Amino acid sequence: MPLSLPTAFESRMKSTLGYAWADFVSAHDQPAPVSIRFNPNKDKLPVGIKIPWSNFGFYLSTRPVFTLDPDLHAGKYYVQEASSMFLEQAIKQTIDLNQSLRVLDLCAAPGGKSTHLLSLINENSLLISNEVIRSRAQILSENIQKWGHSNTLVTNSDPEVFQKLRGYFDVIVADAPCSGEGLFRKDPQAAAEWSEENVALCSQRQRRILSDVWPSLKKNGILIYSTCTYNEQENEKNMNWLAENQGAEFIELKLETAWNIEKISLGKAIGYRFFPHKVTGEGFFISALRKIDSDPEVKIRSGRNFTEASKKITAQLHSWSNHPENLKIINQQDLLIQIPAELYDEMNFISTQVHVVSKGTAVAEVKHEKLIPQHAKALAIDLNQTNFPAFDLSLDQALTYLRKDNLHVSEGERGFALVTYKGTPLGWINHLGNRINNLYPASWRIRMGS
Ligand code: SAM
Repeated sequence: MPLSLPTAFESRMKSTLGYAWADFVSAHDQPAPVSIRFNPNKDKLPVGIKIPWSNFGFYLSTRPVFTLDPDLHAGKYYVQEASSMFLEQAIKQTIDLNQSLRVLDLCAAPGGKSTHLLSLINENSLLISNEVIRSRAQILSENIQKWGHSNTLVTNSDPEVFQKLRGYFDVIVADAPCSGEGLFRKDPQAAAEWSEENVALCSQRQRRILSDVWPSLKKNGILIYSTCTYNEQENEKNMNWLAENQGAEFIELKLETAWNIEKISLGKAIGYRFFPHKVTGEGFFISALRKIDSDPEVKIRSGRNFTEASKKITAQLHSWSNHPENLKIINQQDLLIQIPAELYDEMNFISTQVHVVSKGTAVAEVKHEKLIPQHAKALAIDLNQTNFPAFDLSLDQALTYLRKDNLHVSEGERGFALVTYKGTPLGWINHLGNRINNLYPASWRIRMGS
C-alpha cells in the first residue's frame, strides 16, 4: 500500500527537495534496507555488502526472522539501521580513541549507539548508557549484557541529573527523541502520528535535553547530536541555538562523494543529512560540536556504593575470566559483579550520583555457599570458556534453550555448564544427571514459534 505522507510535511519537503521530491517519494515505495552491525569481540558471520561508513556494518539481501537466530541472542550482532551507523565516522573523526574516555550515551535505549560505542572505545574507557524511561532501560541493559563489556553503567536518570557530573565527559552522544520523519518508510505509524505541534514539542524537548546535559561536557569535549528526522526545527535550528547560547564550535566531517550524504549549514551550525533516495538507509541527521567554554570539573570522591567481595570469593572467580588481574569483584547482597579495576573508583562514585540499573558484568550469585553463574557472564567477552564444560547445541536445541523449554543434552558431568551455538556461549544450564535445569533468564525468553 503506498505510504500516505502528512500534507504539511509533504509541502515542506517538496520545497526543500525540488526536483528530487519524486525520487524521495519513490524511495518510500521501496522496502527499507536490512542491515546488521557485528560485535568485533565475538565470532564474525559471513554476510553481504559492507556499509561504507562503518567497519562493522553490513547490508543483508533478505530480512531473516531475527528472533529465531541464536547468533542474535549470543550478542554476535545487533540489528541496526545503516544511516545511524555513521556515528562511527563522527566519533573516529573527532576523538582520539586511544585515550581513556568518559562517554555518555544520554538517550540510549534500545542500545544501538551504545553497543556501537562499546566497539569503538578501549577497555579503559567508561560508557554510561542512560535511558530516562524505566521499562526501556531494562531492554537497554539486556542488549548491553549481550554485547559483553564490563566498562559500562546502565542508568535511568533524567538528563538534568547529569549536572552532578559537571565537566566530566569527553564525549556525549544525544540521539534525541524526535518527530521521526526519517522513519516513515519503516514505520508508517510515525507518519500517522506526525503533526506540526509534535515537531514543535520535540524541538523544545531537544533544547531542554541539550541545555540540561551541556554542563557535564568537559572543555574541548565532543557532543554528537543526532535525530531520525529531516526537520530543521529539530536539527540545524537547534544546533545553531546551542552554539549561540553556549560556547561551542562545529566540527566538519570528511565525507566521500560516493556516500551521497548531504552537508548542511545554517548560521554557525554544520550538520549531515541522510535521505533514503540518496543513501541505502533511512532518514537521519547528525552534527558534531566541540565545547569551548569550561565548566568546573566534578571531583571524583571515594564512593560508598560498592563493597568488595572477600578474597576467598575473588580467588574462586579467578579462573572464570581471561584477564582476572584487570578486574575487581564487588558483592551486592550476594550478587557478585565484575568491574574493571581501572574504573572502580569512578564507577563507585557515579553510582552515588545517578540512578544505576546495572553495572559492570554480573558474574555469579552466592547461594548456600555455592556460586550460581549469572547469564551476563556467559555472554561476557572476557569469559574463560575453557574453565567450564560446554554443550554445543543444534539450531533446534538452541531455540528450545532460548524459549526456556526442557532441554536435552548428552550425558555429562553434573553441575553448571555452558551451552553454546556454533561455539559461542548462549547461557548456562545446570546438568543434574537425569535432567537439565535451563538457566536462561525468564524475562528474556523468546515467545515466537518456529
Ligand atoms: N540511541 C538509541 C539507539 O541507538 O538505539 C535510540 C534512542 S531514541 C531515538 C530516543 C530515546 O530518548 C528513547 O529511548 C526515549 O525513551 C528517550 N527519551 C524520551 N524522552 C526523553 C527525554 N525527555 N530525555 C531524554 N531521553 C528521552
